[in-house]
Amino acid sequence: MKYLTTIGLEVHAQLKTQSKMFCACPVEFGAEPNSHTCPICLGLPGALPVMNEEALRLTVLTGLMLDCDIADVSKFDRKNYFYPDMPKNYQISQYDLPLSSNGRVPLHDLAYPKDAQKNIPVLDKEVHLVRIHLEEDVAKSFHFETTTGIDFNRAGTPLMEIVTQPEIKSPEEAFAFLTSLKQILIYGGVSDADMEKGQLRCDCNVSVRPETQGELGAKIEIKNMNSISGVRRALAFEIERQIAALGAGEKLEQETRGWDDNVGETFLMRTKESAHDYRYFPDPDLVPVKTEVLLADVRARLPELPKRKRARFVQDYEITPYNAGVLADDLELAAYFEKAARLSKKPKGIANWILNDLQSALSAAGKTINDCPIPAEALNELVLLIDSGKISGKQGKEVFAEMFASGKSAAAIVKEKGIEQLSDTTAIEKICDEVIAANLKAAADFKAGNAASLNFLKGQVMKLSKGKANPQMVGGILERKLRK
Ligand SMILES: [Zn+2]
Repeated sequence: MKYLTTIGLEVHAQLKTQSKMFCACPVEFGAEPNSHTCPICLGLPGALPVMNEEALRLTVLTGLMLDCDIADVSKFDRKNYFYPDMPKNYQISQYDLPLSSNGRVPLHDLAYPKDAQKNIPVLDKEVHLVRIHLEEDVAKSFHFETTTGIDFNRAGTPLMEIVTQPEIKSPEEAFAFLTSLKQILIYGGVSDADMEKGQLRCDCNVSVRPETQGELGAKIEIKNMNSISGVRRALAFEIERQIAALGAGEKLEQETRGWDDNVGETFLMRTKESAHDYRYFPDPDLVPVKTEVLLADVRARLPELPKRKRARFVQDYEITPYNAGVLADDLELAAYFEKAARLSKKPKGIANWILNDLQSALSAAGKTINDCPIPAEALNELVLLIDSGKISGKQGKEVFAEMFASGKSAAAIVKEKGIEQLSDTTAIEKICDEVIAANLKAAADFKAGNAASLNFLKGQVMKLSKGKANPQMVGGILERKLRK
């Protein structure tokens, strides 16, 4: 029996604002617990919320980047529940009038896990969205041996929820979706989307059904995933588990599960019977939001999106789509490339240097492109020196290593080390004449048809020039002289 998998994701992204959603407390990761609180985010009676306009703008910007419909009027609602992380016993969220609806996220090939990139079932797939809404985050609980501590620094920070249609078909597609989405959020400056810091979190709804069955299987939710590779592992485990259960004749019920990354298994948290009834109602302390003015502000902030940047790199700089994909994958790396490539007649060479030598040097040194010791202009200078024949490709590697270690310019290193390549025709001709005169037998052998003799002579010229002669020029000059 074959089974079909259906996955839908709910992603929470922390917005990059200075202050919280409804109060002036600062948003700061890693601050002393409960140091950023006030009566509003502690939910004390009588405290009144005030909207953070930048959070509204960032949510509308996300809507525009993801091709959503932006609501003319949106409003906030109270989502009621009793839980220690929310002392006012409701969370301010959006129910029936979210800021954005519909929209889509294009999945890029390189966003799939490396081992799945050769076997992508649907190329250029787009995952459609249901909605994007804005809400406040809850406090964070820390469970100790006998007690639980609650940090209210996170309570009330702006949180954007992005809900997909159930059209993701595999753990690998879920991985590609999250990677692609994360990239767009970073491009837009909307969120740092660092899953390790909890800035991007994800709930996964997954169901399987026999291929012959029309209606979807029981929806099982995996809560609070905090890494993209964890999402992939959890889904893979859960799909196997559900298929095995169905195969054994069990009936699956709607339920919520957790993921234990250490054990590599999902576990039951609650069944449908204990599902919440949140009794949403409009928040009477907050007026509805007209988006017209926000939209006008935000349009000017729309960035070039990853998909367009990749296409432009291929078109403007004639690099391969693969290289364009890797460069555009990281906004800073893309900016570095473009700075060097704009100056260069050889953008292809620039791309190769960045993706091979520079990236491996950076990772060996534990650095990122932001603290790269070689400025983009300096890399361009190196490529130019090689391209003009001033130094050989091999010497270029040596110069590059020195540039990376010392931060000196390529020209300065070449001068210092005296490694400039000999590309002066007259000088090379002179050496060639000397070598031919000293090796008359080899010269005669070449003339008689022994092609290998040329390599021998070439080697002698290189030796005599102390390795400095331009090898291509040496080959050409020797041949011309011997064919006379
Ligand atoms: Zn506060």
